[in-house]
Amino acid sequence: MHCDYVDGQLTLDGSALAAIAERYGTPCYVYSRAGIEARFRAYDEAFGARAHRVCYAVKANDNLSIIRALGRLGAGFDIVSGGELERVLATGAPAGNVVFSGVGKTAAEIQRALAAGVGCLNVESAAELARIAAAAAATGRTAAIAIRVNPDIDAGTHPYISTGLKENKFGVPLDEARALYRSARDNPWIEPRGVACHIGSQLTTIAPVVAAVREVVALAGELAAEDIPLAHIDVGGGLGIRYEDEQPPAIRALVEALLREVPAHYEVVMEPGRSIVGECGVLLTRVEYVKSTAARNFVIVDAAMNDLLRPALYDAWHEVLPCTAPAPGAHTLECDVVGPVCESGDWLARGRTLVAAPGDLLAVMSAGAYAFAMASNYNARPRPPEVLVEAGGPRLVRARERVADLMRDELERLSEEEAPK
Ligand SMILES: *Cc1c(COP(=O)(O)O)cnc(C)c1O
Repeated sequence: MHCDYVDGQLTLDGSALAAIAERYGTPCYVYSRAGIEARFRAYDEAFGARAHRVCYAVKANDNLSIIRALGRLGAGFDIVSGGELERVLATGAPAGNVVFSGVGKTAAEIQRALAAGVGCLNVESAAELARIAAAAAATGRTAAIAIRVNPDIDAGTHPYISTGLKENKFGVPLDEARALYRSARDNPWIEPRGVACHIGSQLTTIAPVVAAVREVVALAGELAAEDIPLAHIDVGGGLGIRYEDEQPPAIRALVEALLREVPAHYEVVMEPGRSIVGECGVLLTRVEYVKSTAARNFVIVDAAMNDLLRPALYDAWHEVLPCTAPAPGAHTLECDVVGPVCESGDWLARGRTLVAAPGDLLAVMSAGAYAFAMASNYNARPRPPEVLVEAGGPRLVRARERVADLMRDELERLSEEEAPK
C-alpha cells in the first residue's frame, strides 16, 4: 500500500483520506486491498516450490471482504472460534483449508468444524483431544488433528501476546505431546496430520521462531520412527510489523529461515495475521476539542479506546498523522491524543508533537490488525464503518453501526407507545 502526502493531502493508494472521511464520517477504518494482497503474495511466493499453505489468522481482521479477497488468492484460514468459522464459510472459502486453533473449543464448535470439514484441529490439551474423538465418533467423521506444542521459548514480545512460555495457557509441553500422539494413533476417529506451534505475536526477531520450529520438527522425526508419520509442520504466525521504529524481519527472510529447519517432505502451514493486514489500515478521526490543563495538552478526538483498544490494552504506540500536511511553521502542540470515553486509559497516543485544531482530521497508522476486530460498544458507542480502497477506489465494506443496532437484542426496550415523548 502507498500512504503518503500528495499535494498536501494524505492519500492511501491514490484516495485522499480526507475525502473518505467526508463521505463516510469519522471515526472510520480504511484498508488497502493492494497492500493486504501484496503481503499475502509475499508469503505465498517466499515458499517457492515447497508444499505450503498460508492460513491467514482471521482474528487479526475478520472483515468478510478481506477474508474473501485473501480466499480468492488461495489463502487458507486460521480460526479460533465457531464465529470465525462461519465468517470464513460465508465467503465461500473451502473448510478444508481451515485450521482451528484455540484452548477452549466447545463441543458445539468441534462438532460444527467436523461437519463442515475443517482441514485440521489444532489440539491444546488431552481433554480437548478426548472431546474431539467423541465428537468424531458421534458424527462418523475422522478428525484430522495437530498437537500444538508449547516449546517454552521466550518470544521477547509483550507479555499479553506471548504464547510459547510454559506459564502461558497455550499448547502442551513436548513430553505430553508425545503421549497425546500415541493415544491419537490408537484412536480410530483421530488422524494425526501435523504438529503445530505459535509462540507469540509482534515478533521482531527470527531466532525464537526458528528454535520453536526446530523442536517440533525433531518431535515429528521421533514420531515418524514410532510409526506416527505426520504430513505437515504448522509454524504458526506472529511476525511483527512497524508501529514506531521496530525492525521486524522481512517476510521472505522469516520464511526462508523456517524452510531451512523443515525437511522438504513436510507441507509447511503458516498462520500470519498481523503482518498481512496490520500496516494496511488506518483509523481516521476528527479533532473535537483541544483542552489545555496545567499539566498537559489534550487533543480530544472522536475515536476512542472502544474503537482502537491497543494503546489502552498493550500500551501500544501508533503513529498519528494529520490528513492535511500542516503549513510550514504552523504552531505545534505537545499533546496526548485522547477519546471521549470515561476512562483515563482512553488514549490513542501520548507525548506527541502535533499541529491540531478542532475540526482537523487525523490518521492513526498501522491500524489494520487487532483494531476493528477488538472494537466494542463501550459507552454505547456504535462501531465505526470500514472502507476498503481497491483498484476502483474506496468501497464501504461495513456500514457504521447505529445506536438502534446496539439496543436491538435487549428485552427491556420500551414499546413506541411507552417511550417518553
Ligand atoms: C493469533 C494467532 C496467530 C496470528 O498471529 P499474528 O501475530 O497476528 O501473526 C496465528 N496462530 C495462532 C494459533 C494464533 O492464535
